[in-house]
Amino acid sequence: MPADPFVSEQDNVTWINHHENVQVPITKRLTVQNEAPSQPTMAGMRATAARIQHIISRALAAGVRLRACGSRWSFSDIPVVQQGWILETSQIDWRFNVSFNDLDASYAGTAEELFLVQTGAKISRINESLETPQRKRALRTSGASNGQTIGGSLGTGIHGSAIDVGGIESQVAGVQLLTATQNLWIERASAPTLNAAFAAKLGATLVRDDAQFEAAIVSLGALGIVHSVLLKTTGRYLLNSSLSHIPFGQIATAMNTLNFAGSGIPDTTRRPYFFQTIIDPRRFDIVYTTVRYKEVCPPNYVPDYNQVSGSEPGTDVPRMVATAIQTIPGVRDLIVSTLMSIELRVRADTPADFTTPGMQYTFTSAREGIASCGFAVPIAQVTRALDIARIAFASHKSAPVVFTCRYVQKSPGILSFTRFDPTCVFDIDGVDTDATHKLIKLVAQRFDEAGMPYAMHWGKTNHLTKARVRAAFGGAVDRWNATRQLILTDAAERDMFSSPFLDGLGLNA
Ligand SMILES: Cc1cc2nc3c(=O)[nH]c(=O)nc-3n(C[C@H](O)[C@H](O)[C@H](O)COP(=O)(O)OP(=O)(O)OC[C@H]3O[C@@H](n4cnc5c(N)ncnc54)[C@H](O)[C@@H]3O)c2cc1C
Repeated sequence: MPADPFVSEQDNVTWINHHENVQVPITKRLTVQNEAPSQPTMAGMRATAARIQHIISRALAAGVRLRACGSRWSFSDIPVVQQGWILETSQIDWRFNVSFNDLDASYAGTAEELFLVQTGAKISRINESLETPQRKRALRTSGASNGQTIGGSLGTGIHGSAIDVGGIESQVAGVQLLTATQNLWIERASAPTLNAAFAAKLGATLVRDDAQFEAAIVSLGALGIVHSVLLKTTGRYLLNSSLSHIPFGQIATAMNTLNFAGSGIPDTTRRPYFFQTIIDPRRFDIVYTTVRYKEVCPPNYVPDYNQVSGSEPGTDVPRMVATAIQTIPGVRDLIVSTLMSIELRVRADTPADFTTPGMQYTFTSAREGIASCGFAVPIAQVTRALDIARIAFASHKSAPVVFTCRYVQKSPGILSFTRFDPTCVFDIDGVDTDATHKLIKLVAQRFDEAGMPYAMHWGKTNHLTKARVRAAFGGAVDRWNATRQLILTDAAERDMFSSPFLDGLGLNA
């Protein structure tokens, strides 16, 4: 059979992630493209789906493991399997409006709020499509940077930090999943959104099932290939951001409750949209606190995505550490405290500085040498978790890291790691040194010993074990496995989409 001009293939290569901390030998790297990249059509969607299904069948016949990847932004090796095949989906990024005729008769919302995006669409592109003066829509939440694909973001269930919204998966209303023999459009039975005729346009069969939906919105790449995602957007808004230095004793209650009275944030008369605290583990007295409030977006506002060259200070901590690596390579281990006081200076937006989320959360260049992990803990446990981490840090004082807390609501995926109601995501971000890794490992161990409820970000450095996943997710592990067997009825196909990592965690039962 002649080679497919829309699938490029390389054999026996090393797969490398964005930050170059994961390098794995694989036997085949496939990159799929749409036939006419600049002309999105439903016929084109069906053609690409068929192309992906052909790749799945080939991998199945070859008896190799097949894993999808997006932008390769995960710090962990979750997308890849040694000696397996990898399917890169980052170049298929069409976006479609939905019309009134596509809606299920019972859907109470509007067609305008819905947006269908192909799996490789980057968060940046989605923002640019939504935030126009014509469309006036926005994502409810997104991560600190915007280079992830939507498929990859759902792959690990990335958290935003909109304090009254869940992880990115909480704004999804439908997912298209491809297996060797099935093209499925999956929605909640409890929230029908699009009709069977729309699914048919994608070449898909409509499935309405809450469990399958809740499995598919955080799939770890283990349910098949995600081909498209239906987002339920909100009206566009601007963000008004400020950074304050607040004594730990003053902000601690807010960190444990999200109740901001007396916390020292700039305006306690209204609920922040975003709340993030950064702590230097060498000195716990000052908390670098970023707060963002939603502001009205004028109807004719035209976002200027070139206006902001990088994330605002304090938004993207890995980027801040990357700056350290780039600028002062000789003294990496010594500079974190100094850098924090320079980067995280007190500041406040004026109305002229307000930006859309797409302008606020921008791209981060790859930097080798960064480590990042994320522990999800119930918010009432935040200061206790920080105290455990502070004591662990005393054993690894040379670790060039900072502690960051961001807050999200409980997320709806069976395997959403932001599973507490609400959740604080406590990150340890820093330079990739032995001490950093030892610290992350020790904190997990101390959490275990203390009986701290916690889950870990699937796409960041983690030390997950079967016991830890069971402790974090309980019966959700069994629900995941049972639901996965409904979607992937063939055991060989389940194995193909799994990995030694997932096998070891009991997520391929
Ligand atoms: C600079 C930077 C900032 C970050 N900020 C945040 C943050 O604020 N919040 C946060 O939670 N995380 C953050 N992360 C982590 C990162 O966003 C996640 O790991 C995310 O999952 C990466 O998306 P990706 O498109 O690169 O996917 P990849 O890393 O390539 O893949 C992630 C997972 O998705 C699966 N997958 C990808 N595409 C498909 C597909 N088409 N079908 C099925 N499965 C698929 C993969 O198999 C894998 O399991 C950050 C990372 C970086 C580098």
